[in-house]
Amino acid sequence: MDIKTVGVVGAGVMGIGVSQTLAQNNHQVILIDISENVLEHAKQEIKNNIRFQNFFTRNEKGYKPEHFLDKIKFSTNYHSLADAEFVIENATEKWLIKKEIYEKIDAICPEDTIFAANTSAIPITRIASVTQRPAQVIGMHFMNPVPLKPVVETIRGYHTSEATIEVAKKLLAQMGKECILVNDSPGFVSNRVLMLTINEAVFLVQDQVATAEEVDRIFKTCFGHKMGPLETADLIGLDTILLSIEVLYESFNDSKYRPSPLLKKMVDAGLYGRKSGQGFYAYKT
Ligand code: NAD
Repeated sequence: MDIKTVGVVGAGVMGIGVSQTLAQNNHQVILIDISENVLEHAKQEIKNNIRFQNFFTRNEKGYKPEHFLDKIKFSTNYHSLADAEFVIENATEKWLIKKEIYEKIDAICPEDTIFAANTSAIPITRIASVTQRPAQVIGMHFMNPVPLKPVVETIRGYHTSEATIEVAKKLLAQMGKECILVNDSPGFVSNRVLMLTINEAVFLVQDQVATAEEVDRIFKTCFGHKMGPLETADLIGLDTILLSIEVLYESFNDSKYRPSPLLKKMVDAGLYGRKSGQGFYAYKT
């Protein structure tokens, strides 16, 4: 099955990266979000990202951003997904939001359309349970920034079929991505480890054991990490980090996942990291 038209739900940090990568690899994209303003912002971001990329890479065919933007239909109308052969969902990390989306797309999309959830922590089996097609639901945990990251953590839900896995692998290969297939669990492999690490790093800053810069420098200089945990948190978005650790806390009923009060306070204050211009570090917006 060769996928040509891909629906992308959610036009935030991840939806932008996924849509851009699909369009740059010759797919037709239908990008859905709930507000026209968000979609307009997504269009500008994709344009800027491609312009920026063209500065640094040889753009042999001389394609302008508009060439790729023409492949993306921006819409607030879910019925536009009636033509999608594959849907990649990247909406806010809240179960009730995702539940409503899957019920909606299950009713609108053709029976053989595959749904891939780009979630940080919500179990794929739980997502599949609200659809009539659990064998066609898979997890695709893209890394941020999507156009630059070569690997996607791919999650097999309880009912995910081998045929679905094969189609997903093929689509990812067309997007220039390799996949590492894992079984379902809240947070999968990456975020069961990463969210705890980030949360503990925030506790260290809260307890005044070290500053954010010092915590990050220890990881970079001692362990050779490219980024420290708090720089990573700013890149992901502190709001998404908090929602993800809350999913882990609620899923495992284990106090080791309780979110740090400083993390909660920063999110309440609107300090989301790169996307808001301020998190543990300040950014130019
Ligand atoms: P974000 O907050 O930047 O964007 C979420 C988008 O979803 C917003 O534009 C919002 O308007 C939209 N949305 C909310 N309700 C919707 C609905 N009913 N229909 C359509 N769109 C809706 O979040 P993000 O960082 O892009 O994360 C999206 C998903 O990807 C989350 O599940 C997150 O856990 C996961 N994820 C994030 C990262 C990361 O580094 N940020 C990495 C991997 C996976």
